[in-house]
Amino acid sequence: MLNQIKGLHHVTSMARDANENNAFFTHTLGLRRVKKTVNFDEPSVYHLYYGDEAGTPGSVMTYFPFPNITRGKPGTGEVGSTVFSVPKGSLDFWQQRLAAQGVGNIERDESFGENRLRLRGPDGDGFALVEVSDDKRPAWLAGGVAEDDAIRGFHSASLRLRDGGATEELLKFMGYQDVDTSNGIKRLAIPGGNGADFIDIETLPDVGRADLGAGSVHHIAFAVDNREKQLEVRKALLDTGYQVTPVIDRDYFWAIYFRTPGGVLFEVATNEPGFNTDEDTAHLGQALQLPRQHAHLRSRLETLLPKIED
Ligand code: ZN
Repeated sequence: MLNQIKGLHHVTSMARDANENNAFFTHTLGLRRVKKTVNFDEPSVYHLYYGDEAGTPGSVMTYFPFPNITRGKPGTGEVGSTVFSVPKGSLDFWQQRLAAQGVGNIERDESFGENRLRLRGPDGDGFALVEVSDDKRPAWLAGGVAEDDAIRGFHSASLRLRDGGATEELLKFMGYQDVDTSNGIKRLAIPGGNGADFIDIETLPDVGRADLGAGSVHHIAFAVDNREKQLEVRKALLDTGYQVTPVIDRDYFWAIYFRTPGGVLFEVATNEPGFNTDEDTAHLGQALQLPRQHAHLRSRLETLLPKIED
């Protein structure tokens, strides 16, 4: 069993409209946009990152806004919901705030003994806020949400799978442990994690496969401290029979990817070097940052990409 993984690093999803996406995460949820860059493979599409002040691993939600793509079809083989941690007693505030801003499908319930508020993002994305009483992670407070209410980072991601068994086995190999089962949903946790510690597995044998589109999660990334730990994880996965990509330089972290038995794409990403490699922490996310290989496209991309209204 591995011990290098420290919880979630980031979650990456698809959207239709960069401005709608930016407004939802910065104005509605009060996160900081920590990077405005482009998709490595499709530089005419933004890659937007939202998180805490520094974009600490475990807090980072990222999006590819592909203009006019169709919505995803929910189903199995995907992440069902991405869950953020908020302070105890803050869900009344959030319920009112989200309703006032026209956010859809707001529902309060309890899950694993925690107060939860479920909501839908602009493209139908599945999100939830869960009250956590002892989350020590600092909040980003310039986003207009007070410290008593502000998001601390991810709490968990839930996977919807036709057959959860093999993915559960993989997560345990990656260092996750059984915590609990509630309403047929299995919760695993990483010991000594960064706060974004839980993965929930929902097994839905009769539900068809999801189609990727706007509102769908493209992949989830797990955090390791550095490149050395990443190579240890990569070797262990390869030795177990997983097909893992070579290490890819994503400018703000190094990444490896592999497809899991249940169909969800997993990434393992390093905590180094972080988001202040090309702009200082005080100005993260403001200017368009381009990967080196696309730097020569700057003037064209600045014309082509929609202007984001902050
Ligand atoms: Zn990623």
